[in-house]
Amino acid sequence: MSNLGRANRPLMVTLLAVLALVGCDTYNESPTGRKQILLFSEQDMAQQGQLRFEQMRQTLPVNRDPRLAAYIECIVSRLAAVAPSAIDWQVQVFDSPEANAFALPGGYIGIYTGMLKVANSDDQMAAVIAHEIAHVLARHGNEQVSRSEMKHLGLNVADFALDLAEIDQREFVMAALDLGAEVGLSLPFSRAQETEADSLGMAIMAQAGFNPQAAVQLWQKMASMGPGQVLELLSTHPSATSRIEDLQAEHPQWTAEYQAAKRRVNNQCR
Ligand SMILES: [Zn+2]
Repeated sequence: MSNLGRANRPLMVTLLAVLALVGCDTYNESPTGRKQILLFSEQDMAQQGQLRFEQMRQTLPVNRDPRLAAYIECIVSRLAAVAPSAIDWQVQVFDSPEANAFALPGGYIGIYTGMLKVANSDDQMAAVIAHEIAHVLARHGNEQVSRSEMKHLGLNVADFALDLAEIDQREFVMAALDLGAEVGLSLPFSRAQETEADSLGMAIMAQAGFNPQAAVQLWQKMASMGPGQVLELLSTHPSATSRIEDLQAEHPQWTAEYQAAKRRVNNQCR
């Protein structure tokens, strides 16, 4: 809310009133300590995530190879075992040449078969999935929908202030979610969110015994593919170069943890 300075006090007061009205986990700190405004409950977000996941399963070609499903599930279960959450992660492989992956609020993960051509080792696939898991753990979907809703409120704040007393909270939240789901679940994540998912994802993969250096290799390959080839994973944000530099600087701090975890886990997924 840094753009709402002193000159905008009435607007600020109204927005704070709205936030108080909506309640939920309004103010939050992300796992890396970044301040977030979250207008929606995790339960509502998970419900939206599940709905979207089901829609995707019905509209996209679902991959039926049980060996591939078992391979991806093996990686997910190792990552889930160390991820600080009780989420029951659901995975679906989709037949598509795109090198893409996504995760929706509630823990619904999608992997496109095109991704397997790029991430061609356990460690690299773990880097992809850990990055997606990190988006969910850091509640990036909620943050995105909230941000779009704040923008919406900001634009219509005069009308909103007049109606404030008459608004049905539940109705408002659901209408906002409806609007936000379209925006929030399909728009690219922000730069800060991507950087956070990279960082958090690297910690998760190392703790699960996957070599964090593979994240660097993965991004080097992705960078050489060009923007048309990769969706969520290259959508906006850190330029490929700064992303690779950040990951390169970060991975040595996880080496010891990775090696210890590897001795403990000691099983390959393929
Ligand atoms: Zn991402």
